Amino acid sequence: EVPAFNTLAVHCVAAADAALLPRVPGLSDALFRSDGTMTKREVRAATLAKLMPMRGALLWDIGTGSGSVAIEWMRAARSARAIGIEPRADRRAMAAENALALGTPRFDLRDGEVPQALDGLPAPDAVFIGGGLSAAVFDAAFAALKPLGRLVANAVTLESETILAELHARHGGDLVRLSVDRAEAVGRYRGWRPSMTVTQWSLVK
Ligand code: SAH
Repeated sequence: EVPAFNTLAVHCVAAADAALLPRVPGLSDALFRSDGTMTKREVRAATLAKLMPMRGALLWDIGTGSGSVAIEWMRAARSARAIGIEPRADRRAMAAENALALGTPRFDLRDGEVPQALDGLPAPDAVFIGGGLSAAVFDAAFAALKPLGRLVANAVTLESETILAELHARHGGDLVRLSVDRAEAVGRYRGWRPSMTVTQWSLVK
């Protein structure tokens, strides 16, 4: 039985809920092309909630990968803009393709590695650090952030989590861990398949 799809969304029927394209962040993972390193839906929604998309606001998406966070930022508020920094050409190509497919073609994708790649960029309203985390990257991003700017950094490795623990001790903010399990088939039955726990640090300037 084929449900009555929103006419804007008929290009993607990879999963039942991937036919719907709300502006509220937390789009189905199936809507994005990725090589598996993408921030998953539930964590992405929590990340965007703390980045707080607003009209005309600029996001720096550091380690943009397939661009999912920046794309949801641009979809969530009118005229929201994003600069994505990603050193891998294959991932920048996926991000550009995802942006085009999801209605945010004006995604400013840049080749480079942080912190150097941050030099000279226009001041952001929000910064997401999804790759390339270091204390130096945080310092540069936080210095550039406008007043009341939001910063969110996600970590899945012990090394990057250690950096977040130190930054949290120095600057405060919110440090949380997000663990998402999804019910999947186990033979004839179902079981909880855990995703890697994400440590998320966020603060407002
Ligand atoms: N933010 C993505 C996840 C990408 S995984 C998402 O939410 O879907 C982390 C990314 O950071 C990788 O693509 C990697 O190439 C990039 N990265 C690693 N070191 C970096 C650095 N120094 N500067 C910019 N990007 C970096």
